[in-house]
Amino acid sequence: KRPLVEVEGLKMYFPITAGLFRAKVGDVKAVDDVTFTIFEGETLGLVGESGCGKSTCGRAVLRLYEPTAGSVLIDGEDVLAAPPGELRALRPKMQMVFQDPQASLNPRMTVAGIIGEPLDEHTTLNRAQKLARIYELMDKVGLNRDFANRYPHEFSGGQRQRIGIARALALNPRFIVCDEPIAALDVSIQAQVVNLLEELQDSLGLTYLFISHDLSMVRHIADRVAVMYLGRIVELASRDALYEAPLHPYTQALLSAVPEPDPNAETTRQRIILKGDVPSPANPPKGCNFCTRCPKVMDLCRRVEPEYREVAPGHFTACHLHNQTAGQTAA
Ligand code: SF4
Ligand code: MG
Repeated sequence: KRPLVEVEGLKMYFPITAGLFRAKVGDVKAVDDVTFTIFEGETLGLVGESGCGKSTCGRAVLRLYEPTAGSVLIDGEDVLAAPPGELRALRPKMQMVFQDPQASLNPRMTVAGIIGEPLDEHTTLNRAQKLARIYELMDKVGLNRDFANRYPHEFSGGQRQRIGIARALALNPRFIVCDEPIAALDVSIQAQVVNLLEELQDSLGLTYLFISHDLSMVRHIADRVAVMYLGRIVELASRDALYEAPLHPYTQALLSAVPEPDPNAETTRQRIILKGDVPSPANPPKGCNFCTRCPKVMDLCRRVEPEYREVAPGHFTACHLHNQTAGQTAA
């Protein structure tokens, strides 16, 4: 498979200032040295507890924030190095579906206006062509064309998310960041929206970064999964490897809280309860960033940061337990 999105060494730091002259006293390391690839046509799930940096990561990849460091290639084009004019030309390739359709849709614009806005900005379609395209997009996401002149508040949450998806599709993107696209929706309609995203992926050949805290949903939709903790990816693997044989103690703890898909499974997973809170990303622990909560912490972990590396084909993790040179480093 061909890589469509290549993220390397991505950092998103927010400065912390203090005092009368707002002197910089440190950084909140919201995303700290993140590297991953997304292959064309696949869904990479990005999971972790709230505040771990996954939304910031998704926005930094699309350059909705200006990242502190790193590189992002989308279809071979350097998104972070592009000057503003070129960035505008790259916009149609990469889009975002937001968590809260209520907040991300302009309440004073009609559905046709909302879906047509990117067409106005990036194409030279005439009125008739534009309307035809808007109708086509409404068909694609399952919205009745008769509703084109209605306003967002006249729709249910699920329908509003369909409007958001239609807008994201307007310019025929290759890559879409879906940031918790169903978290704000009623459970009864979450599956419909997920199914729609999957159908669109198949029919349009889309590539997704699917950000979610819902590990059961991600198991359903993702081909590969990355786990974030405190601004870093601690493990990345194929869906089956990650859910059936997680290597990182944090992934093991997260998964231990997810109900078993098969209630008749022979061995029931032991629930791992993590002690303490997630440390502040302004002051992460030295060594392994999980060392303050890890049930398997060793002395080495508090001194030496584990390298993020490929420990089995396609299976990456950052943990001294899976680092062949750990023994030597410790000695
Ligand atoms: Fe736990 Fe040490 Fe592995 Fe970090 S490096 S996850 S503290 S065992
Ligand atoms: Mg899929």
